[in-house]
Amino acid sequence: MTTPAPPNVPAARKGSVSRGPARRTLASLLVLSLSAVPGSAVPAPPVGPRSALVRIEYDPPKEPAHRPLYEHLRERKVLETFAEVFGVVRLPRPLTVRFAGCDGESNAWYESEDLTVTFCYELVAEFERASAGAAPYGVSRDDAIEGPVVFVLLHEAGHAIFDLLDVPILGREEDAADHLAAYVLLQAGKGIARRILTGAAWMYRHDAASRAPDESDFSDVHGLDAQRHYNVLCMAYGSDAESYRGLVDRGYLPKNRAQGCHDEYEQVAFAMRQLVWASLDAGGAGRTRVLHQPSFDVPRGAAPATRNAAGAPAPGTEGR
Ligand SMILES: [Zn+2]
Repeated sequence: MTTPAPPNVPAARKGSVSRGPARRTLASLLVLSLSAVPGSAVPAPPVGPRSALVRIEYDPPKEPAHRPLYEHLRERKVLETFAEVFGVVRLPRPLTVRFAGCDGESNAWYESEDLTVTFCYELVAEFERASAGAAPYGVSRDDAIEGPVVFVLLHEAGHAIFDLLDVPILGREEDAADHLAAYVLLQAGKGIARRILTGAAWMYRHDAASRAPDESDFSDVHGLDAQRHYNVLCMAYGSDAESYRGLVDRGYLPKNRAQGCHDEYEQVAFAMRQLVWASLDAGGAGRTRVLHQPSFDVPRGAAPATRNAAGAPAPGTEGR
């Protein structure tokens, strides 16, 4: 028997978000190579069936200033998007994922006691403020907010998977959670993967440029933001070198790192097959791709995809 944690003071947080910094380096058009056609807004995805084992909640914000964010997140169906992407995983017990006011704390975490992922409006507000500087880098405001939010939600859900499935982990759990988030996204379709990973890469690049790291960052359980940035790029490139070759051609992902990214991706894929496969919905990713055409799989700015009579994506709109 355990005593419930008081509101907003989780007793056993797993995987809280690191807002740690890294050195200021090339804050350039790094994420452009993840975006097929940058800058154009993407409509909110349609709502479709998703795993009953993921419950989503938009708690009304405590802080009036967060009301517009609350409305925006609901309008954009951000938690529904997360649930769709995460629907490929079948958990043994229900997971609740919610936005909530955190009394000034800017964070996100997985709470193992009540199987809940909490994402603070304060952290969304941080992403929203940073998004003001995203346009010059070819990242839309929506992507600069929703990309980090969904990626971090998947990261926290990764902690839940490790916990609920008793997944053994060699190395740092925070790195493993990032890898799982990127892997699950890359299974959901190229459109959604590009959009969310672009936003996540932007966020890590932005944070890396915000201040120089110190000993607290070097000793942190999370990798440096610059490292997490390159890890995201490496997973994308490793999943499909042809689709993401611009990352290397334009020098955003160093060749020395890129040459091993396929092996890095396959290592994650192997671990997922070995450790999580029994809980993966083999048809889930395919259904997600079909359901969310065109909002998931069409490169931004491209003509909307057409569907055949059966509702399947038109040939050629999905890479592979
Ligand atoms: Zn974490």
